[in-house]
Amino acid sequence: MESVLLKRLSAGDILLCDGAMGTELQKRGLKRGECPELMNIEQPQIVQSIYRDYYAAGSDIVETNSFGGTRSRLSHYDLQDQAYRLNREAARLAKEVCPEGRFVAGSMGPTGAILEPYGELSVDEAVDQFKEQAEALAEGGVDIFFIETMITLEEMGAAIQAVKSVSDLPVAATFTFELGPTGIHTNWGVDVPSAVRFLTEQGVDILGANCGEGIDVILRTVQEMRKLTDLPILAQPNAGLPEIKNEVIVYHETPEAMREKIKELLALQINILGGCCGTSASHIKMMRELIDGKGQ
Ligand SMILES: [Zn+2]
Repeated sequence: MESVLLKRLSAGDILLCDGAMGTELQKRGLKRGECPELMNIEQPQIVQSIYRDYYAAGSDIVETNSFGGTRSRLSHYDLQDQAYRLNREAARLAKEVCPEGRFVAGSMGPTGAILEPYGELSVDEAVDQFKEQAEALAEGGVDIFFIETMITLEEMGAAIQAVKSVSDLPVAATFTFELGPTGIHTNWGVDVPSAVRFLTEQGVDILGANCGEGIDVILRTVQEMRKLTDLPILAQPNAGLPEIKNEVIVYHETPEAMREKIKELLALQINILGGCCGTSASHIKMMRELIDGKGQ
């Protein structure tokens, strides 16, 4: 099967992804302790309005509201038995509003459980959970899978294996990195060279970094990655680190604050750009302008 999205990347196009989902749902009424994915069946019009806003802001790719759609994660809300339906609806709602020539990415985040040998969840069980999620997202009509915010090779590997066992669609895989005293690595100690080597061996189509501490760390991470790989690179920075003010979570990196660093990212021949926590349609508009060569 030939992917239009991958063809566009090999033709040299830079594709623009969307911004945050979680923080946008909170702005539109999701309360602390409520399940974001439940909105796909209880308030589909809200989820669709976020998808629409991102397409209208210029996103080529919008991610489904399914980041926490694994059984382990949904079990926090006693919704594990709804996993298939919640994921399928996340994708179906996006597909319904996706304009011609643009794309839907099936978002898959960590299970929230720690994998063996350090924790309770077996690798087989993790693979099964990711398989169920990937099958549902594929049925809902996604064009690509985004496996994101991973911090261990074990869980990343389980997710990639699961996706590849149920679908031929392209796979993008991103870790969340932070800057420590010994350089850039995930919270579980995966450094950039190990991440690139692992993802390349696993046969992903696109690799990169998402979430984390904001644009500076993402920029340094992509600089390291670009030296190590010719694969397409995806970067979705947070709008800085979250801070709680009067019980409300705020992010400080406005579109203007990020603008110069986004230019630097583009200069590194990044292939897919977007935003993670705290970014909104206004960040995406700024990125659209820069990709289109306006406002340089
Ligand atoms: Zn994030």
